[in-house]
Amino acid sequence: MKDETKLVTAGRDPENNLGIVNPPVYHASTVLYPTVAALDASRARREKGERGVYYGRAGTPTTFSLEDMVCAVEGGHRCMVYPSGLAAIVASLMSFVEAGDHILMVDSVYGPTRRFCNTLAKRINVDSTFYDPAIGAGIAELIQDNTKVVYVEAPGSQTFVMQDIPAIAEAAHARGCTVLMDNTWASPLYCKPFTLGVDVSIQAGTKYIVGHSDVMIGTACANEASWPELEVTSRMLGHTAGPDDVYLAQRGMRTLSVRLKQHWENGLKVAEWLKGQDVVECVMHPALPDDPGHELWKRDFLGASGLFGTTLKPCPRAALGALIDDLELFGMGASWGGYESLVLPQDPNASRSVTPWPYEGPCLRFHIGLEDPDDLIADLDAGFKRLNAAL
Ligand SMILES: *Cc1c(COP(=O)(O)O)cnc(C)c1O
Repeated sequence: MKDETKLVTAGRDPENNLGIVNPPVYHASTVLYPTVAALDASRARREKGERGVYYGRAGTPTTFSLEDMVCAVEGGHRCMVYPSGLAAIVASLMSFVEAGDHILMVDSVYGPTRRFCNTLAKRINVDSTFYDPAIGAGIAELIQDNTKVVYVEAPGSQTFVMQDIPAIAEAAHARGCTVLMDNTWASPLYCKPFTLGVDVSIQAGTKYIVGHSDVMIGTACANEASWPELEVTSRMLGHTAGPDDVYLAQRGMRTLSVRLKQHWENGLKVAEWLKGQDVVECVMHPALPDDPGHELWKRDFLGASGLFGTTLKPCPRAALGALIDDLELFGMGASWGGYESLVLPQDPNASRSVTPWPYEGPCLRFHIGLEDPDDLIADLDAGFKRLNAAL
């Protein structure tokens, strides 16, 4: 079955749900058992790690439905759902390290993941080394005897640098490390981490899975070998997501294929247009043929999302304000992956420790939504005219 079909069919069972197309939303904490024998049997199943309805926190058919959908498309053995993308990241990292261990973390990682390494992980005596995203097989030289996790994110946050994931995974596995990937940019649809050698793939479901800027949620899929650790640790951390949020995530995911195709097309059109602007230093988008990560993207990814970066030539902050403040179709704020367009000034150097970003001008992160791209370009064109007038 192709992904588009899986998105429609996975995680639902109308025949056993009164013919109703979508699975019901179960609100649950207590689950009642009619007899002591039934309670014992249920406890025995739970001890064996079987998925089932035991207690609200352990999930309901609503949760299982989303888990099955994500796993069906992204791959892996099983999937866990978390209350946010960051919760999924931290639980995944905690699953594979203990005091005295070491993490190899990509330098272009999502900011809060870096912060976890520099704060909470340190408190439990887990050290991290940040590495150049372009390192490839060279990662082997950084692996220490106590390295347990090699973490990748491609393309990376803010600068959208690609990584040679198969080369990194091969070197990591040769030394017994577990490979974790933040696969949020591509969504479960456009990158298949398990075919690249990744052991655990993480999604900020908040972004494209939900797709409507109204829910916080996260997922982590693991292969069979990594699943037991991931599950035990995540449950120990008490993670669970609210049923209505889980439902909205799986509803959003039904239309992921059509939305993402449009984000890809619209994003590329706007990115190409931006490249033609005098004040634009460079556009960071791995689907652009002259992007340094283009070959890796073509080899390992099935498509592109609507998120990319732009570096401008140095300009006063007020000129940046002239560009952004009066844009009509672009909101300014954190997060992305909804149906609407966003722009956000960022400073990559504020969160890099081994690969300084070489440009002095401001960096803008664009999320291109489902508006008509010509309208977006007209809005930006007026903005760049305002910026040029303010120089
Ligand atoms: C937003 C984001 C996250 C975190 O997801 P939340 O649901 O906001 O916690 C993780 N990774 C990447 C790449 C993100 O963009």
